[in-house]
Formats: sequence, C-alpha cells, structure tokens
Amino acid sequence: MCGIVCYIGSKEATPILIEGLKRLEYRGYDSAGLAVTDGKETCLVKEVGKVSRLEEKIKEDSCRGTMGIAHTRWATHGRPSVPNAHPQTGEEDKVFLVHNGIIENYLSLKEELLKKGHTFNSETDTEVLVHLIEEYYEGDLAAAVKKVLRLVQGTFGIALFHRDSPDQIVLARRGSPLILGIGENEYLAASDVNALLRHTNQVIHLKDNELAILNRDDFSISDFQDRRVIREAETIEWGQDAADKKGFDHYMLKEIFEQPDAVENALRGRLLEGEGVSHLGGLEGVLDRLKAMERIHFVSCGTSYYAGLLARYIFEKVTDFSVEVEYASEFRYRNLRLDEKTAVLAISQSGETADTLAAIREAKRKGALCLGLVNVVGSTIAKETEAGVYNHAGPEIGVASTKVFLSQCVILTLMALLVGRYQRLSLTEGLFITRALRKLPGQLRRILDQAPRIEEIARRYAQYHNFLYIGRLYNFPIAMEGALKLKEISYLHAEGYAAGEMKHGPISLIDPDFPTVAIVPRDSTYEKMINNIQEIKARDGKVVAVAAEGDSEIAGHVDDVISVPRSIDILQPLLNTIPLQLFAYYIARERGCDIDKPRNLAKSVTVE
Ligand code: GLU
Repeated sequence: MCGIVCYIGSKEATPILIEGLKRLEYRGYDSAGLAVTDGKETCLVKEVGKVSRLEEKIKEDSCRGTMGIAHTRWATHGRPSVPNAHPQTGEEDKVFLVHNGIIENYLSLKEELLKKGHTFNSETDTEVLVHLIEEYYEGDLAAAVKKVLRLVQGTFGIALFHRDSPDQIVLARRGSPLILGIGENEYLAASDVNALLRHTNQVIHLKDNELAILNRDDFSISDFQDRRVIREAETIEWGQDAADKKGFDHYMLKEIFEQPDAVENALRGRLLEGEGVSHLGGLEGVLDRLKAMERIHFVSCGTSYYAGLLARYIFEKVTDFSVEVEYASEFRYRNLRLDEKTAVLAISQSGETADTLAAIREAKRKGALCLGLVNVVGSTIAKETEAGVYNHAGPEIGVASTKVFLSQCVILTLMALLVGRYQRLSLTEGLFITRALRKLPGQLRRILDQAPRIEEIARRYAQYHNFLYIGRLYNFPIAMEGALKLKEISYLHAEGYAAGEMKHGPISLIDPDFPTVAIVPRDSTYEKMINNIQEIKARDGKVVAVAAEGDSEIAGHVDDVISVPRSIDILQPLLNTIPLQLFAYYIARERGCDIDKPRNLAKSVTVE
C-alpha cells in the first residue's frame, strides 16, 4: 500500500533510496527502512516515523553499497515498530524483502512454518514470505520466489535480494504496483513512478503475476509460469507534481476514485460466500461475547458518525441488537447503561480522535465490551480496544474523508452480517447481501465514469450559498454526509435532513436560491420522496436528484438527475454517496477552495 524503492548500479545506493522514499512520503506511512549491500556486508536500518529519522539513524551506521531495497510501511498486520518495519529478514538473515499489500492466508502459512520450527521476529504477514523463500531457496532466488507465490493469496508488490547473490534484485507483483526504471548502467524500481523520475524517464510497468530480475547490466521479466515477457520501455512525460497525485488535481479526487479498491480491500478475505456470512479475524476472540450482547453503541465524530448512523439502520434490519449512535463528544456526558450486555464500537479513521478515545475509556470503566473500527494500524484506539477491525483503505490524505467513509460502511455491513447470521438473518438473506457486496466495486466504477457529467451539473450550482440535502431511511445519513462534504470543502451552508421533517421546518427556507439535493432510490420510500420533491418544486426550489438507473419517472419531477446503479436497499446508500462527494468536490473547485486542506480543519482531531 505504501512505498518501495530499489537501486542496482554503480552509484552509492543509500542516498538514492532515501531520496526516492522522500518522494513517496505524500502517500502517508508509519515507518521506513532499507537494506544496502556492498557484496560482502549488508546493512539493515529501520525506524518508526519519518524518513528523515531513518536518515539520521543511517548517518551513525553509514550504509555503503551499490545495491539496495527500501520501504515505507503503512502497517496492516502488526503495529508500527522497528521489528515490524521492512525490509523483513528470515531465520538466517540471508533474504531481505520489502512488501506492499496484504498476504491473506499468512496465518495458515505461518502455522505450517511454526510446526517446522521457524521462529518469527515480527507480527507482519510479510515475514511469512521471507521464511518460505528461505525454505524453497536452492541457489536460484527467482525460482524460489515463483514457488512461494503460488502458495500465497492476497496482494503484493515485493522486492528482495539474497546475501549470496549481491548482484541481483528480484521483484514480483500481484495487485500492488511496481515499476522498473531503466537508467544508464543502472536499474531502479519503485511502487510509484514518482520515485524514479529524477533518475530516468524510461519505465516499464510490471503487470500482475509477473516477476522481474534486475542484474547490474541487464534485466528480464517473466510470468509466474516462467514465460518470458518482452515489453518496451515507455517514456514518461508528466510533471513531478502530477505524479504525486497520480494525475489527479487533488488527493481528495484521487481518493474518491480509489473507492472501488477501498471496497475490495475492505472485503478481501472477509466474505464466506457459500455461507452468506462474513469472517472478521479481528473479532474472532470476542465473537461469543459479542453475539450475546443486547445493545451496541456506535461512537464517533464527523463523517464516521454518519457511517454509524447508517449502520444503525443496517444492524436493526439484520441483527437483534438495539442500537444507539452517539457523537463521541456527547457520549461521555450522557448517563448511558453500559454493562456487560453492551458493546461499544469506536469508529475513527485515524484511531487518534481525542473525543472518541475519551468515550472508549469511559465505556471501559463501566464494563462495556469496547471494539474499534480504524484505518490506521497500531493507533491508540486500536490499542485501547479489546478487539476490532481495520479498514485497510490505505492512507487518506484529503482532510474530507471519502474512501474511508465508504470502507467504514462496508465493514459495518460485514459486522452486521456476522452477528446477524447468528441471530435473525437467514442463509438466503445472507447470500443476498454477500452477492450484492461483491458487485459494489464494479458499480462504483460505473458511477465514477459519470464524473464529467456530475462536474457539469455541479458547475451550474456553484454560485448558490445554501443547500438542503434530503433522504429517508438508509439514505438519511447519506444526505447528512453529503451536506457535510459540501460544508467542509466549499465553505457553503448545507443541511442534511430527513425528508419527512421538511414540512416541520426547513421548507420555509426554500426559494429559487436555495437548491435541494434529493436522494431518491427505488425503495419503499420512493413515493414519499416524490411528494417532498413536489413540495419543493411548488416553491420554485431547484432539485438535483440522485436516482436509480432505469427510473424514467424522476426526470419529470426535478431539474437534474444523476443515475446510480441499483443495489439492495441496505447497500444503495453506499453507491449514492459517490455522486454527492463529486458534487461537493466540483463545486469547491469551481469556487477556488483549498480542497485538500480546507480552512480551520485538521485531518486527525487529537484535541477534545
Ligand atoms: N502487510 C504488510 C505489513 O503490515 C505491508 C504493509 C504495506 O503495504 O506497507 O507489514
């Protein structure tokens, strides 16, 4: 998920690797490391925190050599720590390996290795790869890697070398990018072209299930079945800045477009499709207690609070729990019944949100089972809760959350499915949900294809100063989240309301200068939503509808329609979120706002 940089040539590798890692810093990471060899000695240095700290540490160790691999880690398995940082080494300190991605079946592979007497130095999934490669190594590193990768499920971009072959780096990928840089008498490789551009603009993108061998004076590519791959180098022409954001104008837009991947990562290895249930490794230890609970509280702030509100509807539909959702900042002041029949789930992107942390501490004191749903591995909330689930959404840099929100909604659905299948949810209903979850990434891509149309609509609304967002049932929280996105990044006033509440107040605001965004799925709320829209139109209010694909009626009632593929009712709000993110983004852009760093806001709110 984070960064890899490799070098083999005639120059000192360490400064090149450090400089390359710095160019990947924008992606976010929690620790960094490198291994450099001069043919005799191999120097391995790892450090938690910034690349500059690693650089400081290297000064003491003076790592010399003309070949090396380097990594910035964004922890998925095991907290950020020096032993967990990469390069990982095995039993005999002969193989040095860096890895981006997740090895899904690492536990079963690790058990086998433990039985054979291997001992492990880290908590990572990655270390399993190194031990396996050592097991299979018979003098040909690439051959051993190919054998091992046949056993592995999951995603990886890996780079490694063996102490006995100091003139060779092996690379392989499946699902995690790796790019070769072809220089003059030198080769580089990186997970992002950005780290190569200072040295060469001649690059070759490895494809999934391909392996490359870099030697000092040549390189070769093959697939995992040993078939040779011949691929011409491409010349990269884009500017450095565009490469930072992968060609997107803002991190927020990049992250909106990463949502199909974020959903795939949230689901990876977590759906037992034949049984219509989910598997959440992080909850396994507390599952019996969790199933027996009477109540669950979702505690969070900001966008994560809206994920909790949506989850309330989903849990009420598929589980027997009674559900409460509360802002973390309020939770601690309420006098709630928190006992051994109560679970409290803290939802936080950073895992450092001060209010949420305070709420969890309070709930623990009262005897509740405290769980976490966080994106940042090893964060304080992850540490202070008894069990939990990680998003695996990769770093989110834009202050306004997009991909992590969607990932939270997916994982909360997986949790509901897990508990629900022990309670009221039948196999057929479970299957119905798992199948619909599988379809989400493809459906999200279809919505993202409509970005130019959404941009065109947004431009026409960018001059208004007030917006109302309405929805019912599952889409009420999405109306609030849509309004929040617009507030956060465009500094415009927006309110998210339950559509049924319109006539109890907000309808008095409606006039030709106060447009409404209405979420109108083809579910049991459809007729009532149409009534609300007509009430708005009767007062000359403009309406943009987010509606179901194939709804031929809606265009006759509103000014603009954005169509969204259909899913089951509980998952439809996840799809409906995307047009609202894009709508907010394009309005903010039209207004010239600082989208990735909106005024007065911080990404991780660590004060109460
Ligand atoms: N899964 C690996 C770990 O937790 C790699 C994480 C990454 O992609 O940075 O160490």
